[in-house]
Amino acid sequence: MKEEARCILCRTLVRESNLGIVILGKCICNGCEQKITSLAWDDPDYDDYKSGLKKIWCCKEA
Ligand SMILES: [Zn+2]
Repeated sequence: MKEEARCILCRTLVRESNLGIVILGKCICNGCEQKITSLAWDDPDYDDYKSGLKKIWCCKEA
């Protein structure tokens, strides 16, 4: 990964060592990835992550 990439959710600097998932060129650190995958759909925290992800979806559809 050439450019500095930050997790779109927690703004952590994402490197290959802690890279979680990449969605449409946006990085999510492995910490947030695990949090997302472990969150229940009705978990209050889920909305926070969902709103972060929504930014990506919106960009894609725009
Ligand atoms: Zn993160």
